[in-house]
Amino acid sequence: MDRRTFLHLTGTTALVTLAAPALVGCAGADRPAWTKGDPFALGVAAGDPTPDGFVLWTRLAPDPLSADPATPGGLSVGNIGIGYEIATDPALRDIVRRGSAIAEAAHAHSVHLEVSGLAPGRPYWYRFTSGNAQSRIGRAMTLPALGARVDKLRFAFVSCANYEIGYFSAYRHLADEQPDLVLFLGDYIYEYMERRRPTVRMHSDGVEATTLPTYRNRYAQYRLDPDLQRLHAVAPMLVTWDDHEVDNDYVGEWSMRFIDPAVFLKRRAVAYQAFYEHMPLRPDRYRSGPTGPAIRLHDRFAFGDLVEFAVLDPRQYRSRQACPIPPNRGGGHLETIASCPELIEPARSFLGAAQEGWLMDGFTRSPARWNVIAQSTLMAQWRQRMENKEISFWTEDWNGYEPSRTRLLHHLHDARVTNPVVIGGDIHSFWANDLKLDFNDPKSPTIATEFVGSSITSFGPPHEQFLTYLPDNPHVRFFEARHRGYVAVDLTRQSMTTQFRNVSDVRLLDAGISTLKNFTVEHGRAGVQI
Ligand code: FE
Ligand code: CA
Repeated sequence: MDRRTFLHLTGTTALVTLAAPALVGCAGADRPAWTKGDPFALGVAAGDPTPDGFVLWTRLAPDPLSADPATPGGLSVGNIGIGYEIATDPALRDIVRRGSAIAEAAHAHSVHLEVSGLAPGRPYWYRFTSGNAQSRIGRAMTLPALGARVDKLRFAFVSCANYEIGYFSAYRHLADEQPDLVLFLGDYIYEYMERRRPTVRMHSDGVEATTLPTYRNRYAQYRLDPDLQRLHAVAPMLVTWDDHEVDNDYVGEWSMRFIDPAVFLKRRAVAYQAFYEHMPLRPDRYRSGPTGPAIRLHDRFAFGDLVEFAVLDPRQYRSRQACPIPPNRGGGHLETIASCPELIEPARSFLGAAQEGWLMDGFTRSPARWNVIAQSTLMAQWRQRMENKEISFWTEDWNGYEPSRTRLLHHLHDARVTNPVVIGGDIHSFWANDLKLDFNDPKSPTIATEFVGSSITSFGPPHEQFLTYLPDNPHVRFFEARHRGYVAVDLTRQSMTTQFRNVSDVRLLDAGISTLKNFTVEHGRAGVQI
């Protein structure tokens, strides 16, 4: 045993609390004898694929919901070295890589292991080990070689999983489908406590997450859910966030509750940190900026010549919602263009100028047959006719940033982007939409197709009321707010088939699954085929 390791570990033993292990360090990966609690209770995850590797995630937490802020996950020790194995088969018989990784104390003993040098376009299986403990086995995947011919991909997208509102049966049924890839499109956690509506279970600490320990424990509680944990083990992920990873309806430095931006940014900083600590993201995505930690989340992932996913960040760089009125109309609210001309102010941006430029530039160069824009909120125009007959728009999604949307759709058209499809969440309902070059002219060409998944559990908007808006929105081809679930997609060179799956009841642990509706988009023909 290395003397420094020995001193380091025994030196910290005095601080070890309830669930911490008796640590016995050795050279290489540390070999603690875990005496209480499973250090891998939070499971594993894979993401950020490249043609020769990916990022593998775990977080050591033998006491995952430790209430003591000084011992996140029940650990008060420094960095811990752990082992990993990567194999070409699910039973880990054919191991192609073994090594050690660091569980960083500064990041709640999370691991963000960057693996490279593997073969392109294939699945791998992996496991972490620490002393007498080992994690469950997870499945990862490398991207196909750049430009390689790819004939099919099965992916799914999910959003809006409020732990208190229901059980995660949708995640369980999706895991059963064994998709190649799952896109998480925001509201992975909910930061608040549900006080008004019926719940089936509670956030463990009984408080709104606002601090590093409370955000960490929120993620830990979600990752303890067996259905979510299994989905992460079954399928690698791409991820973006929405508002509830931080605070309802926040954008940039602006909170809907009109908190001083200097104060709010401190909260955002710890929320971003906890997000990073619980996602399989490359360490260089996490940066310190002038306003605290920033995460470079937007990125693109090409599956050979079949599909390129542009994953967007709809929150960090966005202009403030239009026409905020203190004290309580700071986030989403309805406005008419007459009451709020700021809605059509061209300088306001949904993505921020840099991300918008990056997105458009990427499309211009994309050789992929399908171009999927993965983001969190409704992009189609949604005209809501009020009692006085005036048309109003929700300020919180793309409807609050009409010039941004127009710039993007015009670019898709002008650059002749092949088969653009937008996928999203946030609005807790299923939608299939034609995205028009000019939404105010029904005869205008359809530029792209949009599918919005429902929520894993979160309550939908008023279904009957929204149905009355449909005549003013002929480009909305399908709308359904009464069901929770996810969207499974079969992509081939000729078509994209999206299946809207709904669970029977989020209040039941063993809810069933059924298919609400299927849609097909044909290669070369934008728009929903019904
Ligand atoms: Fe949501
Ligand atoms: Ca949201």
